[in-house]
Amino acid sequence: MITVKEISRLRKLPLRELAGLALEQKLAGRGSRVSLCSIINAKSGKCSEDCRFCTQSAHYQTDAPIYPLKDRAEVLAAARAAKEAGASRFSLVTSGRGMNRAEIKPIAELVAAIRADVDIKVCASLGILAVNDLRILKQAGVSRYHHNLETSREFFPKVVTTHTFEDRVNTIKACREADLDVCAGGIFGLGESEDDRISMALSLRELKVDSVPLNILIPLPGTPLAEMAPIPAAEVLRSIALYRLINPEVPIRLAGGRETILTDLLGSAFMAGADGMMIGGYLTQRGRAPEDDRRFVAEIQRIWTS
Ligand code: SF4
Repeated sequence: MITVKEISRLRKLPLRELAGLALEQKLAGRGSRVSLCSIINAKSGKCSEDCRFCTQSAHYQTDAPIYPLKDRAEVLAAARAAKEAGASRFSLVTSGRGMNRAEIKPIAELVAAIRADVDIKVCASLGILAVNDLRILKQAGVSRYHHNLETSREFFPKVVTTHTFEDRVNTIKACREADLDVCAGGIFGLGESEDDRISMALSLRELKVDSVPLNILIPLPGTPLAEMAPIPAAEVLRSIALYRLINPEVPIRLAGGRETILTDLLGSAFMAGADGMMIGGYLTQRGRAPEDDRRFVAEIQRIWTS
């Protein structure tokens, strides 16, 4: 496990050296595996929380869709499409601070229906939940719960005021009690510093998460961050490399914003330690075509093993 002193030394390296070390770490620890997953925005909008990056917050005027929980046929069709596109995991994502017991039940039924019908692992991202509700999801067939930290403990109050960093940490700890794997990461480009990004990486290491999704802010109209200048791609690549070196054993997964901010540098992110991505679109934004992602994965694995 690298120390904080070692991290300070790594941060002074030029990007190409840092990326080289991260790629070596990735190949030594995880081989040429690439991990693909897909999500469905199963319930959208009208969220009570004020996350400044999010179009689904009821605090902001945005054109994000608003709809209740999707029905079984639509969710099953999306799970099948995810499987066909090459995803090994499919996540049900809902807007909102969390859910009560009555809301958990139909979700558990959807999870069981997917498990019975499609050969794909099921994840869920339903906000802040208590351990007993997480146990119900586990029993229904959820293997991993997604719950981002979003940013560092220090910067969090500048991004969200309706709940705390500790609330999020407690949900992650509750997942452990419910015997669920945890997928947790955050968003780069919220106005945080590199110190903040390192702080989040260390929190994720401390929480022993099983997968780290990294989003890059897409500043969306109507949100308080609509005018935020995009984070430079080089800073994103540096952070990805540092995340790999700090969390060597877990998939580092590129999620929202990878096309918009990284554009042609997506391959560079995979040469800097990333080894997973979300395919088939995000919560309120469309991603690129599955065949383009498949081609990309085959090419990057050829490069890694050549
Ligand atoms: S990120 Fe989640 S909790 Fe925050 S406003 Fe959006 S839907 Fe609500």
